[in-house]
Amino acid sequence: MRREARRGTLSEATSGNAARREKLEPGRHTAGTPGRATNGGRSRPTSPPLTAAVPPPRLLGLRGAGSVPGARTTTGYGMDLSYGSEIEAFRGEVRSFLDANWPPKGDDASLSREEQTRRFRERATAAGYLNRHVPKQYGGSEQPPDALRATVIREEFARAHAPTEPRGIGTMMLVPTLLERGTDWQKEKFVQSTIMGETTWCQGYSEPGSGSDLASLKTRGELRDGEWIINGQKIWTSSAMEADYMFCLVRTEPDAPKHAGISYLLIDMKQPGIDVRPLKQMTGSSEFNEVFFNDARTPEDWIVGKRGEGWLVSRTTLKHERNGIGAAAQAVGTFQALVRLARETRIDGKPAIEDPAIRRALVEVEGYVRAHEYSGYWQMSKDLKGENAGVIQLMNKLNSTNIGHRFAKLAMEILGDEGLLAPSSHGLGLGIQSTSDWIAQYMSSLGVAIAGGSANIQKNVIAERGLGLPRDAAANRSK
Ligand SMILES: Cc1cc2nc3c(=O)[nH]c(=O)nc-3n(C[C@H](O)[C@H](O)[C@H](O)COP(=O)(O)OP(=O)(O)OC[C@H]3O[C@@H](n4cnc5c(N)ncnc54)[C@H](O)[C@@H]3O)c2cc1C
Repeated sequence: MRREARRGTLSEATSGNAARREKLEPGRHTAGTPGRATNGGRSRPTSPPLTAAVPPPRLLGLRGAGSVPGARTTTGYGMDLSYGSEIEAFRGEVRSFLDANWPPKGDDASLSREEQTRRFRERATAAGYLNRHVPKQYGGSEQPPDALRATVIREEFARAHAPTEPRGIGTMMLVPTLLERGTDWQKEKFVQSTIMGETTWCQGYSEPGSGSDLASLKTRGELRDGEWIINGQKIWTSSAMEADYMFCLVRTEPDAPKHAGISYLLIDMKQPGIDVRPLKQMTGSSEFNEVFFNDARTPEDWIVGKRGEGWLVSRTTLKHERNGIGAAAQAVGTFQALVRLARETRIDGKPAIEDPAIRRALVEVEGYVRAHEYSGYWQMSKDLKGENAGVIQLMNKLNSTNIGHRFAKLAMEILGDEGLLAPSSHGLGLGIQSTSDWIAQYMSSLGVAIAGGSANIQKNVIAERGLGLPRDAAANRSK
């Protein structure tokens, strides 16, 4: 069954290539370890670059043309994609900083990875490259908004595999929300420790029966004697086991229309009224949980925004999550890892990248990555001109998660039987480095298409807000 499924998948890309089917027999695949010259007697192939369908300099995995790799150039079709000399000079500054600081050198080289990362983040923030939107008084670098500089930083940090801000839900979602809507004391108490990775958060939105239709949530918050008393249940709460605090949507005005009856509370997770139960995933790990509230408590002023405004406040958070997930730079880096995998894995004694079906599938995926990358530039141009990016912006998350799944499926095709091994248990924060990372990427790519609003819901949003089609009938019914 499984073999059939694998053939079926690749045949979409190969249109019935009989020779390819021959090659997908069990036991013929051996995967090398990306980044190593030799591995257990398997040598790194001296494969030719992908020449037939895609000229090497234009392939993302083989970019090398031009004096400054990564710098945008004129396409030759009358469109200037360069960022201009001022921004390219800035790129040079970022590169010098990275050359001096990452990977760690001197005494820093012998420190633990955690400490290396912490020190690097401090230096990068002091240099103005990280935490740019966070005021200095809360530990940020307080840089003026500059989409081009921010993009260059993202590109160069990705190229150098250097750490960026901690990727937790606290930095990505809570900090921007507090900066926009929190009180002064809330910012002082929570922002700096969160961007330094010292305080961790989980997001208490989804409930059984209230995922896509989130505004129907039932967990109650009642104000009694200067405290919110919370009762109910959340589900799919990522990292709830480890988190210090939760930002949570609760129903505080039961008689108001459903969107107007919700408040956004901050809750200490380490208290007797909260019971966290891990949910086992197919990866074998338990990254998300059920959370039960039984007279859990939080002080009256641990509310962000006003009573009943939680829906509005939560939209601020979601906006930031969508932008975070949609970054094209990550897709480019993962594609490069995929090309490496195809070079270093052997099928029938030859590098997988020499297999015409694999090459064709790689080129197809590259087309999606390119389209995503250039959509990103289009969106950025619109932003810089103060124009609404419209449907392009709405498509960002959907494209990003679709591409992530395509990557992972193709990696499984390349890995063959090795794709049945156990996935890696550590996170993919520093990129894909091994076979088991690819397996974890494959499994997690399914969940990413659901987290933060499912792909179907995202399509509804694109249709309704982007293309002006009629409202979803199901959504109208549940008002
Ligand atoms: C990896 C992962 C991490 C998560 N982390 C968190 C977290 O930390 N905190 C948190 O609160 N939640 C979290 N979630 C939950 C996530 O937000 C929900 O799973 C998601 O919103 C979908 O809700 P649901 O699971 O209830 O599915 P449902 O809403 O029941 O949807 C089931 C299916 O029906 C489709 N569907 C539903 N309504 C419509 C419609 N109107 N039109 C078309 N199709 C529709 C959906 O697309 C989906 O395919 C996480 C989920 C995942 C996978």
